[in-house]
Amino acid sequence: MPRREIRGKTAIVTGASSGIGRAIALELARQGANLVLLARRESRLREVADVAAALRRASGAGAPQSNGPDASQSSGTGVSPAVVIAGDVTDPATRQKTLQAAVSQFGRLDILVNNAGVGALGHFDQADPARLRRIMEVNFFAPVELTRLALPLLKQAKDPVVVNVGSILGRLGVPGSTEYCASKFALRGFSEALRAELSREAIDVLLVSPATTRTEFLHSLVERRDSPDWRRDRWQVSAEYVARGTVRAIRRGDPEVIPSIWGKLVCLANWLFPRLVSRLMAQYAQ
Ligand code: NDP
Repeated sequence: MPRREIRGKTAIVTGASSGIGRAIALELARQGANLVLLARRESRLREVADVAAALRRASGAGAPQSNGPDASQSSGTGVSPAVVIAGDVTDPATRQKTLQAAVSQFGRLDILVNNAGVGALGHFDQADPARLRRIMEVNFFAPVELTRLALPLLKQAKDPVVVNVGSILGRLGVPGSTEYCASKFALRGFSEALRAELSREAIDVLLVSPATTRTEFLHSLVERRDSPDWRRDRWQVSAEYVARGTVRAIRRGDPEVIPSIWGKLVCLANWLFPRLVSRLMAQYAQ
């Protein structure tokens, strides 16, 4: 018996225009959730909103209740189950608008999925300080501040949950991704501490730690320089696989999910044999 029902819930998903965010949004819609979708590429978001609206209707969940005029650009006619907010998650006004959309369109927020993220490849000593700033802004400060803004709403919800999409690189530091690893370690620390604090409010905090996943991630890097070849193809899972694992974990009320066998093995190896893994990492850094 799942601890949390998805049907009829309202979810914000950041970074919903592609990859893991898109797949999580569609999986939530398939299970009957209303959505507020945030990313910068509006046309991509609209396509996701259209597919989500169709899945949401097919799920058999009743039409969402209107709570006033559409907050932003909704997809289709009438009260759409998927609202689009085109903007940068690092912009405080965009974050505010996203929450207002959840309230004005659906009157509530139950699930916040902090998924938007960027990376960079290349050694730290060759990188501009702006690379670190940008990665921390998108991957850490934006989700933290969106969570801060969402808490008053989540406290009014039934079975609320904050979902932070981290990475197994929030458990294992690898060469060529120093800033990215730092941002995901920070997100993991934030998630663990917040989970303890919010337990008294009955708000769950789920950390999703994917391993390499087939998405557009490597096409939108902040910067790309020489970096180790991780032979990613061999171990990749699909974004849909990650999304199914994430929504299952939301339903069960799990604290963390690593949606990849390979990812689980890497974390286990690092826990059991830290010196060996450290030596391997040093070899990759050459
Ligand atoms: P994608 O590049 O496919 O998706 C990234 C999403 O984030 C896009 O929707 C993009 O939309 C959005 N985004 C990026 N920057 C911003 C911004 N400033 N404001 C708003 N939206 C933004 O990559 P993934 O799906 O792989 O990445 C999703 C998450 O998964 C990230 O947090 C990533 O760190 C994590 N992850 C990915 C792994 C992988 O191997 N792919 C492994 C482990 C974790 P737009 O460009 O339209 O703004």
